[in-house]
Amino acid sequence: MEQTLLDKLEILADSAKYDVSCASSGVNRSNTGALGNATACGICHTWSADGRCVSLLKVLHTNACVYDCAYCVNRITNDVPRASFTSEEVAELTMEFYRRNYIEGLFLSSAVEKNPHYTMEKICRTLFLLRRQYGFAGYIHAKLIPGADPALIRQAGELADRVSVNIELPTVSSLRSLAPQKNPKLLVAPMVQIRNSISGYLEDQRHFRSAPSFAPSGQSTQMIIGATPDTDYQIINTTENLYQKYRLKRVYYSAYVPVNHDARLPALNLSPPMKREHRLYQADWLLRFYRFEAKELLDETHPFFDLEFDPKINWAFHHMDQFPMEINRVDYEELLRIPGIGPTSAQRIVRQRALASISYDTLRKMGVVLKRAKYFITCGGKFYGDIHFHEDNIKDKLRCMENPKPYTQLSLFEGGIGR
Ligand code: SF4
Repeated sequence: MEQTLLDKLEILADSAKYDVSCASSGVNRSNTGALGNATACGICHTWSADGRCVSLLKVLHTNACVYDCAYCVNRITNDVPRASFTSEEVAELTMEFYRRNYIEGLFLSSAVEKNPHYTMEKICRTLFLLRRQYGFAGYIHAKLIPGADPALIRQAGELADRVSVNIELPTVSSLRSLAPQKNPKLLVAPMVQIRNSISGYLEDQRHFRSAPSFAPSGQSTQMIIGATPDTDYQIINTTENLYQKYRLKRVYYSAYVPVNHDARLPALNLSPPMKREHRLYQADWLLRFYRFEAKELLDETHPFFDLEFDPKINWAFHHMDQFPMEINRVDYEELLRIPGIGPTSAQRIVRQRALASISYDTLRKMGVVLKRAKYFITCGGKFYGDIHFHEDNIKDKLRCMENPKPYTQLSLFEGGIGR
């Protein structure tokens, strides 16, 4: 029986849910004549460069893949429903969703259909139809297919706002083991091309105001965490390398969700390592905004992030000789190392200090969050933590904050109303 557009949409939106470059939020809730519809048809949200939250149609062009990556639900050896959109179908669907105000943009990825070149050509044609035929000016995030012709990669960069190549796994050896058809050199080639093109186009824009833009929201990637024995130390080094070498805007981490039986993979009944993923996002934040280097956060003797304390607090516990820091004396870089103090607070402190020395009360009035920071600072030589300054005491205090008791439903009748 021929598939309808809705059949295809259901299959290809569902297949796209494992890509975490933006989080899916569709749910299956039936509408029994009431107002509203929450059908899981692939609407997800992402944040634009100016901080707005935008809703996107998140679909694959096809899930009929010719590759056999061990961790992937769409691999050729899996018996799953398959579907492929034509470029016209994706473009029309996007426009119909847009006109109905369901979405503000498109997140378009794809399995490898026939070969990388063929797949990339379809993606580019879709982008071309949207931009040139329909005049669609909304946000588009498009996946690049490694191994495709560089001319197609360039065309995608000219038409999309953001592009991404999935690095898939943190190390070359893991990639060889789980995705042997993917060539590590071909994975990075589009990243290099996009980095160079973005710089070239930016240079043109400096000289000619009307010069076109190229992937103005930059490029990103994602890697799977927990499918292989790679350590957090290896992962965070790979991340640092990606930011420095290819000037990526974001690296996304995807806690491995077991979907396939395969001797190379963890058991199917294991839960995705969500806490580990969370720690990696926190460490990633430290690399991007707090001027940390990967080698400061972990090393070969401590290759995994502590699951009890976040990476910044953990760094502080390994450098207790540098604390407490006197808030009126330390420089901006050192302020950023204080747990609880972020770039905004550090900038406010530096500005305020130029006018007068800062007291603990001033810090409060400036809006600096002191819940954690008070255990790592002095103001005018005085320590304001409600304990004796010692690592063990601070750990006890922070442990309660980092691992609060789980919420429980209040009871009306046990020690509640009327007691
Ligand atoms: S190429 Fe992509 S879609 Fe195909 S099996 Fe590998 S991860 Fe899955």
